[in-house]
Amino acid sequence: MADTTFKLTYATMFNPPEELHTRFEKVLAEVKGNLGREHGMIINGEERFAEEKFEDHSPVNTDMVLGVFQKGTASDAGEAIAAARKAFPLWSNMKWQDRVSLVRKAADLIDQRTFEIGAVMALEVGKNRMEALGDVAETADLIRYSCYQMEKNEGYYVEMGSDPLVGYTAKNISVLRPYGVWLVISPFNFPAALTGGPSGAALVAGNTIVMKPATDTPWVVRLLAECFRDAGLPDGVFNFVTGPGSTLGQALIDNPDVDGVTFTGSFDVGMGIFRDFAKGPYVRPTILELGGKNPTIVSQHADVERAAIGIVRSAFGLQGQKCSACSRVLIEEPLYDTLLDRVVELTNKLVVGDPTDREVYMGPVINKSSYQDFLDFTEDLSQAGTFLTGGKTLTEGDYGKGYFCMPTIVADVPLDHRLWKHEMFLPITTVTKVGSMDEAMQIANEVNYGLTAGFYGSPQEVDWFYKNIQAGVTYANRPHGATTGAWPGFQPFGGWKGSGSSGKNAGGHYYLPLYMHEQIQTLIA
Ligand code: NDP
Repeated sequence: MADTTFKLTYATMFNPPEELHTRFEKVLAEVKGNLGREHGMIINGEERFAEEKFEDHSPVNTDMVLGVFQKGTASDAGEAIAAARKAFPLWSNMKWQDRVSLVRKAADLIDQRTFEIGAVMALEVGKNRMEALGDVAETADLIRYSCYQMEKNEGYYVEMGSDPLVGYTAKNISVLRPYGVWLVISPFNFPAALTGGPSGAALVAGNTIVMKPATDTPWVVRLLAECFRDAGLPDGVFNFVTGPGSTLGQALIDNPDVDGVTFTGSFDVGMGIFRDFAKGPYVRPTILELGGKNPTIVSQHADVERAAIGIVRSAFGLQGQKCSACSRVLIEEPLYDTLLDRVVELTNKLVVGDPTDREVYMGPVINKSSYQDFLDFTEDLSQAGTFLTGGKTLTEGDYGKGYFCMPTIVADVPLDHRLWKHEMFLPITTVTKVGSMDEAMQIANEVNYGLTAGFYGSPQEVDWFYKNIQAGVTYANRPHGATTGAWPGFQPFGGWKGSGSSGKNAGGHYYLPLYMHEQIQTLIA
């Protein structure tokens, strides 16, 4: 980008330079001229085609076939794992500096293809253009963050003390070493960042990988796989397979030759993977990044404008399909009416439509099943509470071919209603009045999840919020997003309780060591 003063992040994306729009539109036209092609899997550096295929349709317009992909089988899963196993000795024994340089090259290639991958993502996920470009930029930054950590920690090679032996000298080294074959399974909503981030970490650490994307988003991940391939990683170091989670994904999980897994997705699928992966011969590292039911607490001392903007951005960015989406808003009574008036006013200004259009903030939801969920949940909520806005799908004209839902805010839903605790993963937010901050905190924490949380209030209240909230990523008084918008190196991302298994956040200080086990090397001279 010519404007070198602009760094694209989720928190800066609201005022991009004009050139960004021009380039996006140019590349989008090229991508649209290239739809419907068949794409292979990549196993051991080679294109691999399966007998059965599946079509990848755009949620913006389901008549649009973006590409044709391979319905990989259990046998493909086995071959991908075998290829990764074969490549492990070479890759893990390579100097870490050389691995870093190859992986960094992949990040550079992703940067070079940002607009292409972003345009594909807008069509494949239904992300607006800035969110889509942000996801790609985040991917490169996540990968680079792992490279940076490896360098900063000098390969995790640490000289320990020398034990006081009489007549001998001991040299003790602690070194972190890779596990072996690492499996990366990613969700549809951040197909680039949540494939590239864990893959980058696993690779820098010296593991070889097998990656499987969501069935709704194989194209973005295929492009990412090409960046890793074209960076010059030896054959078999990364392998890319496509196909249903229930068959191909399950075969990968059930294969005893996998040494570790990073799964990002829903709580239910993640817990199933956790249990199945535990059936192996011994305990293997299982990094699970799962769902959220993220609250925003607003005290009577809050800045109404900041709170309103932050809530709307986080509730409806990517149609509420972010693990970090603000899906519950708890407002102290004196500010309740004023804040909600403003939240509704801002929500009604959001443009829903083709996410590749510049002015559109909300695209469609991902697929038919999510669309049906929207219909079911709004039906349920119409009985239980009051819609302040939304509650409907959009079916007229151009909307009719995609999965478009209106941003929806619901009040007066009894707190014991199941949807206060269930991750809907849609543009639906429930709001309630609270009598005190303690009551708000109790409600906020009374869920299985603990991913992100937002707070608006006085500086004196902020410490109380940090101390009491059960969440891995917290934001106070932030208009750029109440609960969303983390960036590697700034806000490492991960969850507590049912939102994550490791207790360490991606894109942060403690992430890379999760991909290695420690070895102590004692030599007596
Ligand atoms: P899913 O859990 O439905 O799917 C995630 C991935 O798992 C997909 O690739 C899916 O493949 C695969 N999968 C499904 N079943 C199995 C199986 N039995 N064995 C192996 N793999 C399987 O999640 P979504 O894609 O719908 O993503 C949304 C969810 O992800 C939300 O709950 C969201 O909160 C969470 N998420 C969490 C994040 C975090 O950092 N904590 C970040 C982003 C999202 P297929 O598509 O083929 O079914």
